[in-house]
Amino acid sequence: MINSQFVPDKPQTTVEQFEVERKEMVETQLRDRKIKDAKVLAAMSKVPRHEFVDSWCQALAYSDRPLPIDHHQTISQPYIVAYMTEAANITPSDKVLEIGTGCGYQTAILAEIAKQVYSVEIIPELSQQASQTLSKLGYKNIQFKTGDGYQGWVEHAPYDAIIVTAAPKYIPHALIKQLKIKGTMVIPVGTWHQDIVVLTKTENDIVLEKTIPVRFVPMRKKF
Ligand code: SAH
Repeated sequence: MINSQFVPDKPQTTVEQFEVERKEMVETQLRDRKIKDAKVLAAMSKVPRHEFVDSWCQALAYSDRPLPIDHHQTISQPYIVAYMTEAANITPSDKVLEIGTGCGYQTAILAEIAKQVYSVEIIPELSQQASQTLSKLGYKNIQFKTGDGYQGWVEHAPYDAIIVTAAPKYIPHALIKQLKIKGTMVIPVGTWHQDIVVLTKTENDIVLEKTIPVRFVPMRKKF
């Protein structure tokens, strides 16, 4: 009979190991792929991505891929989070709207850079869970709401930047309305084939730039 005292525990990844993996992620997945904004690189170096995923996939937290979260949703690949945040051109005085809180990882990255973040999620449990994770990590500049992202969050509009992390077929009109003049919206658009669109609003026009192809979960129409 084996004395259980002598059976080694399954090796657990330590906080230090996660930090090493996070540094490597920033170097190989972000810097090497031309992410340049120092604020984005600093935020991605700091936020503990492993705290946002289930324990069974924590070992993959810093790998170059999206990961599953609850309710059949996904947390985007680190590069896509960095790409979208850089494209949104956020400064420390900004008020930012995020649509699709999910596990709250992108929310944390935004909260590291912006003054205030408002995040809307259609699945109540995900919003609650993200709110718990982010308050445990000490963030105080985020407000959460369960609701339909197609409507934005009008009470706090207009926003300097809007980031959408679920893909609609067309850019929702309410979101364009809630963006400040000279503000930027970054949004995946399409169904099977999607591209990240960077929208900038001018005094009397909007400018659209279609950038990289992506695959996000669809933006749902209703609860
Ligand atoms: N940024 C997230 C990615 C989550 S995946 C992260 O870092 O984890 C996209 C999220 O958008 C899902 O949580 C999904 O429930 C949410 N979503 C889908 N349609 C929505 C809508 N109409 N309004 C708000 N959130 C929506």
